[in-house]
Amino acid sequence: MGKVKADFEYDVVIVGGGPAGLSAGIYLGRKGVKTLLIERGRFCGAKNLFGGVVYTESIKTLAPEFPNVEPFPCERQVTEEGYLILTERGYVKLTHSKEDRTHSFTAFRAKFDPFLADVAQRAGVDLAPKTKVVDFLKDDDGNISGVIVDRPKSFFDSSPASISAKVVILAEGVNRVLSQKAGLYSRDFQPEEVVLSVKEVLQLPKGELEKRLGLKEDEGLALEILGFITQGYPGLGFLYTNKNSISFGIGVFLSELAKNRVRPYELLERAKTHPFFQRLFEGAEVLEYGAHLIPEWGYKGFPKFYGNGVLVCGDAGGFVNPLFKEGTNLAIYSGLLAGETAFLALEKGDFSEKTLKVYEEKLKESYFYKDLALAKNMKDLFLRNKHIFSTYPELLYEAMSLFFSAQGKFKREVIKEIITLIKKKRGFLGVLKDFLSFARLFW
Ligand SMILES: Cc1cc2nc3c(=O)[nH]c(=O)nc-3n(C[C@H](O)[C@H](O)[C@H](O)COP(=O)(O)OP(=O)(O)OC[C@H]3O[C@@H](n4cnc5c(N)ncnc54)[C@H](O)[C@@H]3O)c2cc1C
Repeated sequence: MGKVKADFEYDVVIVGGGPAGLSAGIYLGRKGVKTLLIERGRFCGAKNLFGGVVYTESIKTLAPEFPNVEPFPCERQVTEEGYLILTERGYVKLTHSKEDRTHSFTAFRAKFDPFLADVAQRAGVDLAPKTKVVDFLKDDDGNISGVIVDRPKSFFDSSPASISAKVVILAEGVNRVLSQKAGLYSRDFQPEEVVLSVKEVLQLPKGELEKRLGLKEDEGLALEILGFITQGYPGLGFLYTNKNSISFGIGVFLSELAKNRVRPYELLERAKTHPFFQRLFEGAEVLEYGAHLIPEWGYKGFPKFYGNGVLVCGDAGGFVNPLFKEGTNLAIYSGLLAGETAFLALEKGDFSEKTLKVYEEKLKESYFYKDLALAKNMKDLFLRNKHIFSTYPELLYEAMSLFFSAQGKFKREVIKEIITLIKKKRGFLGVLKDFLSFARLFW
């Protein structure tokens, strides 16, 4: 690959200052590689939104001292986690208490990403916030050998500045514009390949959060919500507790929202009329509102992860496992692998596909790649089988209502009533078919 002339020179340029880009940067900075991380937001985390549970194990790979860090970048430890299954009238709550109280934490990106950015800077990475990468710099053979940004070259020359790099790591998030421009994706994503998520942060009067959710000050709750919350559309809701507020949101496949002309904000408003949330959010003040896409193209829509002089990681690569709400940790792990690969290429002095292909091999060995391969048909099942989001939540709630209000009745009659309910709502054959198609996902 030929050398190019540029205004600035780096060994590696990383596009995007989310967890993926910052992790790649931290790895490379610690190896002494001259690295520049470019983030279009005012600061890392400024433009980002997530649910927000983060996982200690992945964070420790970047900052081994976590969670014993000052200032602490998270809100609450998650001490209770599980599902809230909603119907129009009621709910079934299935949660477990977590033995390891430091396993995961709730966080806001505006605090969490700057924490990682600080680790990256201390590792020697140069950060360029408020800067957008608009194109690639290419050598005479057409290979990527740097980036062009929306900032002027200098005070005297307003044309866009160029930065050369032996490897460019794309960690640009779900919109994947540059990854596509680099030829790693051959097409735009489709509406059925992304979930549109909206989130509110609701503040309760002091002490009310603990009182209403039965928590102590050092305890936190993380709930995934299924059923009425999405009005039966394929998707999930979430409720996570912060120090003094609650993150409450809904995500539904964009294709379903478009087809049914539903706005996710309307779903969120409707959900707040449910008795469970009415009670919980009484007197609450909305502090923040935001919307963001989640990549769900997964294994079947994976890009080519490498090209001459380029690698892609994090959301831009499609590394999200929605069933286990793994996003930030997969961004961290894939970012680290991209960093490792770039370092290897620098050691070899070869930045061509031949060497960068190692990245794909590393990914294939990872647990998360295998997880995504295993669940490759999950999205299709969720989009095809609407019963998961409507019939089953109703069924579970009604069956449990019958089961627990059976006093004064011969129990065989109660069981018969539950069986009749299953027959009426879905039929045994339907239940068996659904069970098999779900089980087949993991075989
Ligand atoms: C509503 C919602 C809830 C979620 N909840 C959770 C959760 O609870 N737990 C979890 O683990 N994951 C969750 N996720 C997923 C998680 O947020 C993502 O998987 C993770 O943030 C991906 O990190 P990333 O670094 O790949 O991308 P991002 O975090 O999206 O970062 C990409 C960065 O690139 C920058 N950028 C983009 N283009 C350019 C450019 N051209 N030039 C310069 N900069 C650019 C952006 O400004 C951004 O800062 C959630 C996501 C959403 C939307």
